[in-house]
Amino acid sequence: MPSLYIDGSWTAGSAGCAPVINPFDASVVQEVDQAGPDDVDRAVAAARAAFDSGPWRATSAAERGAILRRIAELLMRDKEEIAHTETLDTGKTLVESRIDVDDVANAFRYYADLAGKDAGRLVDTGQANVVSKVVHEPVGVCVLITPWNYPLLQLSWKVAPALAAGNTIVIKPSEVTPLTTIKLVELMAELELPPGVVNLLLGDGRSVGAPLTEHPDVDMVSFTGGLNTGRSIIRASAETVKKLAVELGGKNANIVFADTDFDTVVDYALLAVFLHAGQVCSAGARLIVEDPLHDRLVEEIGRRAELIRLGNGLDPGTESGPLVSEAQLAKIEDFVKSALDEGARLVAGGRRPEEPELQNGYFYRPTVLADCRTDMRVVREETFGPILTVERFRTEEEALALGNGTEYGLAGAVWTNDIGRAHRVANGLRHGTVWINDFHPYVPGAEWGGMKRSGNGRELGPTGLAEYQELKHIWQNTAPEPSGWFKG
Ligand code: NAP
Repeated sequence: MPSLYIDGSWTAGSAGCAPVINPFDASVVQEVDQAGPDDVDRAVAAARAAFDSGPWRATSAAERGAILRRIAELLMRDKEEIAHTETLDTGKTLVESRIDVDDVANAFRYYADLAGKDAGRLVDTGQANVVSKVVHEPVGVCVLITPWNYPLLQLSWKVAPALAAGNTIVIKPSEVTPLTTIKLVELMAELELPPGVVNLLLGDGRSVGAPLTEHPDVDMVSFTGGLNTGRSIIRASAETVKKLAVELGGKNANIVFADTDFDTVVDYALLAVFLHAGQVCSAGARLIVEDPLHDRLVEEIGRRAELIRLGNGLDPGTESGPLVSEAQLAKIEDFVKSALDEGARLVAGGRRPEEPELQNGYFYRPTVLADCRTDMRVVREETFGPILTVERFRTEEEALALGNGTEYGLAGAVWTNDIGRAHRVANGLRHGTVWINDFHPYVPGAEWGGMKRSGNGRELGPTGLAEYQELKHIWQNTAPEPSGWFKG
């Protein structure tokens, strides 16, 4: 079956096909169509027509909410198949993929409930004959560009609010992990939405993503991905002054004070950084530890990191899968080499695994590097892999300065039993999310996004819907009379 979806029909791409690789063993899972320039134009034209003149604009928020709720039901119907596909495509464990599908369904339910709840507001003008109201409208044609680490989850945070607000969409997933995106579009195709409301293009960023961000008929780009790609999207969209929502990378601090429960913090430090082999935007990749606890904590985390069981994500005994691609593996090897060259001390990992059954896949052992400093490349830049760097601090001020010491500001955590200190540090961190004595949880009702170079929009929560809405002020004079401004 062809894998592009344009104007309500599945269609082959004009740029041939490309293989989707299983990172566990580098085997080909499936070939998928690749969009060419004509497909990009056709998809945007279909979304434009569906927005400007199709029946979609006339749907009520309640109808759109019902559609989103139905998508959540279909996701649950096909949960096992979708989770299995996500694991084949990304390498993450089946447990993680199942959680992803649950979270995706929750995002659709959340925006189903929120659709139409905020109808705008009346403004008091002080004039009895005037009605002044501020209303929400959809933005128009929205391009949704997603990364490879949480392909379906990141997409749901865009599709659900974009449709709830009444937009039409063109989806561009990462070329590396497009399979569950195709599946989601298949589910939406079952609902027989008006043609052009949902469109899917596959292909790489240069050939498909970039032309979409420059396209004059696109009103908005919602992008999740790396900092440099974000910068080029901001530049590319400048000519046509598009609305942008840009969710970028993170280099997230996990700050541990010595009064924390030792076993709990060891457990969470490992979870924070090694979940999904570190390929998480909010990964707690920088462990920042108070001096009295430092040596003991580093030793124990290093010991536990060596015990993490790598393997096939489909195998129930696997605790961590591979990196997503050969390119990502090479990048991680380079980061570790540069860290050691700059004086970091290797505590665990720092190598590919020895097991024969893992040799074809893109595996790298969970790696712990001590004696790290903020001026090291491995501490400053997002590695997006299984690398934990450890820094030491002596005062609360120093902890805060280290926590804010990179150009990113996505998420971070503070561990302490001192409630006052916990909130002082949480308030002082320039991060979009701060966890106190926890790491990674989120709820659809709370906004997610970054400060500084981690982005300029918010997903989830009411703000995640507002990103896909325009505001319009309507002023109605109910008893118009000549103004008498010009006397002649
Ligand atoms: P990426 O290389 O920036 O790619 C992201 C998406 O942009 C992909 O679909 C990519 O297509 C496309 N793209 C590449 N160049 C483009 C261009 N010039 N114009 C338009 N689109 C373009 O990021 P990634 O490596 O897939 O994902 C990892 C990054 O995502 C990390 O930095 C991570 O922190 C970030 N992330 C952030 C969040 C968050 O919530 N803030 C969540 C998840 C991930 P192709 O890959 O097909 O070329």
